[in-house]
Amino acid sequence: MMIYDIAIIGAGASGLMCASMLNNSKQKVVLLESSSSCANKIMISGGAKCNITNRYMDISKFLCDEHFVQKSLYKFDHKDMLNFLKENQIYPMLNEKIVKGSYFCKNSKQVVDMFLRLTTNIKKELNFKVLDITYKDNIFDIVSKNHTIKAVKVVVASGGKSFETLGSSDIAYDIAKKFGHKIITTAPALVGWTVQKEQFWFKSLSGLSLDVKIKINNKTIYGSMLFTHKGCSGPAVLNASLYWTKGFVTIDFAPNQNSHLPRRFRQIAKKEGIDLKNYTFAPAGNFGYTKAEITKGGVDTNQIDEETFQSKLQKNLFFIGELLDVSGQLGGYNLQWAINNGFICGKFLKN
Ligand SMILES: Cc1cc2nc3c(=O)[nH]c(=O)nc-3n(C[C@H](O)[C@H](O)[C@H](O)COP(=O)(O)OP(=O)(O)OC[C@H]3O[C@@H](n4cnc5c(N)ncnc54)[C@H](O)[C@@H]3O)c2cc1C
Repeated sequence: MMIYDIAIIGAGASGLMCASMLNNSKQKVVLLESSSSCANKIMISGGAKCNITNRYMDISKFLCDEHFVQKSLYKFDHKDMLNFLKENQIYPMLNEKIVKGSYFCKNSKQVVDMFLRLTTNIKKELNFKVLDITYKDNIFDIVSKNHTIKAVKVVVASGGKSFETLGSSDIAYDIAKKFGHKIITTAPALVGWTVQKEQFWFKSLSGLSLDVKIKINNKTIYGSMLFTHKGCSGPAVLNASLYWTKGFVTIDFAPNQNSHLPRRFRQIAKKEGIDLKNYTFAPAGNFGYTKAEITKGGVDTNQIDEETFQSKLQKNLFFIGELLDVSGQLGGYNLQWAINNGFICGKFLKN
């Protein structure tokens, strides 16, 4: 039976970047993907225009172990990303309508096509849903329903749990646990909030968007908030969801001197007796993994080598991308992180 030098699990942003680094390597590399196509999340990212990076890339935009991320980020930062894209004839434009510093592509398909071009020499096994991995005599057996693939090294790049319809699964966490890794509690993030009955008035404002300031723990988040049928959403809420587990948040509905509050809002706020500058409430929960852009929590980075993304517990096993306990705010931070990891890990494996 053929033994691959490297098997990469997951053909998303991190896995494809890693594979592209190995495209011209002499090693036998296989990319295993549960879906029938690669890069499904990239395809829909940024409203199909792929918000791929951000000019204000720094540690404050991530929920993470700062030491770990700080060391990795600069090895492939937003400028490297823009250069890399330029070399591949992709010229993202700054679009700061939603999040300051955001770079969007003309369309996401450009990015997907680029990765497919950059990985033409890599064997791709689509519809290969990894169910388990075992390790014996220095070889990993990667098991799917109908096949087993053998490899000397395995890169787990299978992402988080959100948007299961796009191929997401729990497999990264199962593999990590199997090899003794600690998993920091996972939860949907960059996601809207559901509300308790005291906030049912949100529903009557469904569709209305306001610029607000949200205070949560020691974070202050500015941006727009969208009232929805089931609660609230919009960039400010999505970012706030990164820092919320349970308990109270405080909203300033008029954060600027020239804040304009629509009449409809003022009427309802008056009727409900809302303190416009200091409205405190506890969300009931969130809209869940089907709506969340990312999964926060994940594989504990204390057990990952930041130079290579290799497990400190199991030789030749690597973890990259969103599955790690590193979560970025809205604005291109998560794709930057995933692609950064693919670059660093792929570069190490190439040499
Ligand atoms: C709607 C939406 C919009 C987004 N927009 C943006 C944006 O504009 N900018 C930004 O920075 N971030 C955005 N994100 C987040 C970003 O897409 C992810 O953080 C990023 O794609 C993570 O990359 P990854 O390689 O770690 O995982 P993924 O891209 O999720 O890739 C993991 C791959 O592994 C495969 N896989 C999973 N389980 C298995 C298994 N058992 N066997 C084999 N294969 C498996 C999956 O099918 C998938 O192809 C968005 C997310 C969503 C859901």
